Amino acid sequence: MGFRDLSKFNIAMLAKQAWRILQNPESLLSRVFRARIIRERSEMEHRGGTHVLIWEDFWLPGRESRLVDSPRVGGLFTVNDLMNQNSREWNVQLIRQHFNQQDSTAILSIPLTASPLHDKLVWRGERTGLYTVRSGYRMLLNNNQATIEDKQTYKLLWSAECPSKVRIFTWKSIWNYIPTFQNLHRKRISPNARCARCNSQTESLEHVFRECLFSQQLWHCLGVTWPAVVGSLTYFEWLSWLFKHTGGHSIELVIYTVWAIWHSRNKYIHEGKISTVIGTTDFIRGCVIEYKDTLGVCSGPRVIEVVHWSPPLAGFFKINVDASCVPAEHKAFSGFLIRDENGQVMGSGILPQPTYISVLQAEAWAAKQGVEFAIELGFQCLILESDSRTLITKLQATMDDSSEIRIIIADIKSLVQQIPCCRFVFSPRSGNKSAHSLAAFGKEGVEGLWIEDVPNQVLHVVEADRP
Ligand SMILES: [Zn+2]
Repeated sequence: MGFRDLSKFNIAMLAKQAWRILQNPESLLSRVFRARIIRERSEMEHRGGTHVLIWEDFWLPGRESRLVDSPRVGGLFTVNDLMNQNSREWNVQLIRQHFNQQDSTAILSIPLTASPLHDKLVWRGERTGLYTVRSGYRMLLNNNQATIEDKQTYKLLWSAECPSKVRIFTWKSIWNYIPTFQNLHRKRISPNARCARCNSQTESLEHVFRECLFSQQLWHCLGVTWPAVVGSLTYFEWLSWLFKHTGGHSIELVIYTVWAIWHSRNKYIHEGKISTVIGTTDFIRGCVIEYKDTLGVCSGPRVIEVVHWSPPLAGFFKINVDASCVPAEHKAFSGFLIRDENGQVMGSGILPQPTYISVLQAEAWAAKQGVEFAIELGFQCLILESDSRTLITKLQATMDDSSEIRIIIADIKSLVQQIPCCRFVFSPRSGNKSAHSLAAFGKEGVEGLWIEDVPNQVLHVVEADRP
């Protein structure tokens, strides 16, 4: 294809996913991410008005930033507030009164339709207003001021072995695409730019990730250090230095830490929850280990994956599911087991399935029955683990499934909408032994649901899984 820069092409491809999410507001993924992405877009603009925020959204034509410059006015929120609703015309008097010359000229230059239309998000890079990977890539190349050194940093970032959301977050932080108070203040969304944690310094990238006391202590506790001179570099230069001088730690540790700092900052600001340095340290170390374990990612040559079951992160409950089948008798059985962060059993079950059609369908049924049981028991944050890669891929997909198991997939996706979070994770068989044993005993006539317990027959297998 002749693409010069693969990492930029990857970003342009990722943006395509984001675009799909924004275009299909009813999908599960969209609902989860929309609230976040919608605040952080900068290359998209709005056309319409019902939900377009006057001071926050990028909606004014004919200028680079597409943001309103005039100071905020009380009582005016969405672009709709600037129109006479009956005549569907701009409220010229109101606009001239509250907006500066430039803004009011730009607003009044936007033609209005006779009847209200839905807001529409359009992409600036193409005349059609639709995102294309080509135009996204072109835009990234034009923005390219990167030196060879910078490129190395991006290369290290994109090759890190951690989930793409964590890498993308770090990438966004490098580009300053995150809502720090400094950024919010610049956009006149926040009255001040100070860090909410220490309330003494401006919350810049350097402050939040490096200088705020919590961050300082966290890096120290993780054993990540840097010379004093590096501590006065810009955020990007400092991060580049950390990527290249890993010492005893890994680049993944740095990336997860950046992500975890932001996560704990948000928890503090939005929920008033204070994270401890020790707790966050454990969380980060757990992330580094869990990802490499559960996804069977090996940094060396690939060997046969022997993965041990690993407990979920604190606050999550892991549910392992599996199926066993007797095709000749058209029978299949589900086995599932819920455990907490300490490997403690929260519940288990062996249930016969209504019919047997295929192994894949049996795996899907097991997942469905397991999720139903977990939700019934009141668990809120789930990690569903199955050794069927096909099933997990389908559950993770945002597109509608069109295979033989599409109805079961849709059922599971709709079930998990009842709870705040559910992640679907593939595990090799060696990490899914307990669920496998439960399902196998279904064939021998064992059947039932157990709360905080497992049937005696599988006790030894579950014990062997303990961390
Ligand atoms: Zn601070």
